[in-house]
Amino acid sequence: MRLVFMGPPGAGKGTQARRICEELSIPQISTGDILRAAVKNETAMGLEAKRYMEAGDLVPDSVVIGIIRDRIQEPDAQGGYLLDGFPRTVAQAEALDALLEELGSGLDRVIDLAVPDSDLIARLTGRRTCPACGWGCHVLFAPPKVEGKCDSCGGDLVQRADDSEATAKNRLATYHEQTSPLLDYYKSRPIFRAIEGVGTVDEVYQRLQGALA
Ligand code: AMP
Repeated sequence: MRLVFMGPPGAGKGTQARRICEELSIPQISTGDILRAAVKNETAMGLEAKRYMEAGDLVPDSVVIGIIRDRIQEPDAQGGYLLDGFPRTVAQAEALDALLEELGSGLDRVIDLAVPDSDLIARLTGRRTCPACGWGCHVLFAPPKVEGKCDSCGGDLVQRADDSEATAKNRLATYHEQTSPLLDYYKSRPIFRAIEGVGTVDEVYQRLQGALA
């Protein structure tokens, strides 16, 4: 299965992607995760990407297209993969189509996880993660057992810098300007499915399984 997950920031793409990838034994390829690792390791790419990410803007197409070009050709991606957060512009989608054609493969599903704007800011600003083990929660909707502490390893929970209210609002505006036009790009293809991202994690997961069947 070669899958693309679309949807606004805070729609739950990452959470659902982790489950699907575990079930299908395919790698979850998140350009956001790859970029965050590059920022943390202070690589040349990370240094370039940092200012865009901190502002809630998109990193230039050439950077993320290069990431995906390399990543989907790695051995663990030969049996399929899930692209989480890529493509995010029409230019990225066109580059992905060209790359897949070059590689003689194609996508099996493009899934849009739809969540109304009114829910997204609260979802984003309440997110917390554990830098030590990767565990995630939400201060309102899925709070940790002990405030500020990771349920899994007891580490201190942190908020992603770009989940602050001001940056989250800009990420949402960026989504509407640059990413939602992608829906028109994919909508007419038989592999496209839109599902409601509202409800419990299990409810959304069930809808996803239906969309993948
Ligand atoms: P995410 O973790 O998917 O919310 O991504 C976090 C940030 O990384 C975004 O706000 C962008 O600054 C950057 N980013 C991730 N994926 C892309 C992409 N496909 N195109 C451009 N920027 C991206």
